[in-house]
Amino acid sequence: MILDASHPLIWAYVGVVGACVGSFLNVVIHRLPRGESLMFPASACPGCQKKIAPYDNVPIVSWLLLRGRCRRCQTAIAPRYVLVELATGLLALACLWRFGLTLPALAFFVFLSAMLAVALIDWEHMIIPDAISLGFLAIGVAVSPWMGLGLVRSLIGAVAAGGLLLVVAVLWKKLRGIDGMGGGDIKLMGAVGAFVGAVPALLVIFFGAMLGAFFGAVVLRRGGQARIAFGTFLSAATFVVVFFGNDLIAWYLRTAGLNH
Ligand SMILES: [Zn+2]
Repeated sequence: MILDASHPLIWAYVGVVGACVGSFLNVVIHRLPRGESLMFPASACPGCQKKIAPYDNVPIVSWLLLRGRCRRCQTAIAPRYVLVELATGLLALACLWRFGLTLPALAFFVFLSAMLAVALIDWEHMIIPDAISLGFLAIGVAVSPWMGLGLVRSLIGAVAAGGLLLVVAVLWKKLRGIDGMGGGDIKLMGAVGAFVGAVPALLVIFFGAMLGAFFGAVVLRRGGQARIAFGTFLSAATFVVVFFGNDLIAWYLRTAGLNH
């Protein structure tokens, strides 16, 4: 029996695999910025330090059954873990919906999972690990022949997006005398450009900057310190552009009257 991409079993399977990837993402988000190994040791309870048994480590299900607490010591397990698993499961389904059962669907799922990790790591630690930004720059270029993008446009995308942020960072430093943007953001946009190409990547920078500015204004208004994790907003903008970028560009061209 051959199942097509619309079969409920395929959707169920893809959702479950996505949630399992989310479980791994939780490990990445916690350990990568702390310089810890992703493989060892196995996950342990933050309260009693006891290793979490495999049957208590089933994505989403275990957290619900144990009501968000360790089985032994009842220490609360942060809702973030189950939310990341849920979000990654939904992301896998969104990629299947948008790209079908294809290689680009898989590549975009892996890439956007990494962007989800970047969003949370940058938010918490104000860093973007090179392992993700430079790693996915290389992966983006490597898979580009199968993404409908091609090697040349992938490289141009990486250089254009990373280059634009580099220019902005240099100018900002000259004009204001402070670092407005980290090198991590530049490398991250290199990866985004390698995956989506130049024009969509510039759209990501545009949306990311708008989101960041809006958030910064809200924080300032409330009297807080506006230290913006730009990578978080660039990641959020990447999600929008991967799923809706072509529609947005087509809509803009229509609205701008270029079809008249
Ligand atoms: Zn415990």
